[in-house]
Amino acid sequence: MNYKINEIFFSLQGEGFNQGKKVVFIRLSGCNLKCEWCDTKHDSYKLLSLENIYIEISKYDCRSVIITGGEPTIHNLEPLVKFLKQKQYWIGLESNGTNNIAHLSKYINYIAISPKSETRQLIANEVRIVNDNVDTNKLLDIERKITAKEYYLSPIDISGNMNIKETMELLGDINEISNKIWRISLQLHKFAGIE
Ligand code: SF4
Repeated sequence: MNYKINEIFFSLQGEGFNQGKKVVFIRLSGCNLKCEWCDTKHDSYKLLSLENIYIEISKYDCRSVIITGGEPTIHNLEPLVKFLKQKQYWIGLESNGTNNIAHLSKYINYIAISPKSETRQLIANEVRIVNDNVDTNKLLDIERKITAKEYYLSPIDISGNMNIKETMELLGDINEISNKIWRISLQLHKFAGIE
């Protein structure tokens, strides 16, 4: 099985609950959505076999990977996550939630969903909502639909301008009316100038 790999790189997770965790990111190419503010260049790729992916990730002294995109679930991820599990990696997955990946959950340690469209994956460890003019009704709706341990709001980033103040105000509003705890997730890697 070959995968369309956009890039493999080592960094610190910049977002959400696992902020600061050392991980090797495996970025798969392509996405099923076209968010106008998408800032990830995920289209280009080289085809890599499982063994070649393993050679790449083994270059780093790190036992954790995060599979991301684009949208990784447009690919058949089962052989990849099974393989990584056999190699005893901690596996995180970042997805927009449009595809149901319940059948993969036994292999994956941490699922972060960032819904932008209709969501079919309704269980996650973490939900991250990009504050693209969202309101408390939308957040309450997401809470009802997606069961998660952690709920985060992320400022939208348009060419380096982030609506942090508006996102903090929304955070205040949702935490007044929700029985979940919402937190802000800043993309710390951008502030730190790392990938
Ligand atoms: S779902 Fe994510 S990767 Fe896909 S277009 Fe939207 S922001 Fe970009």
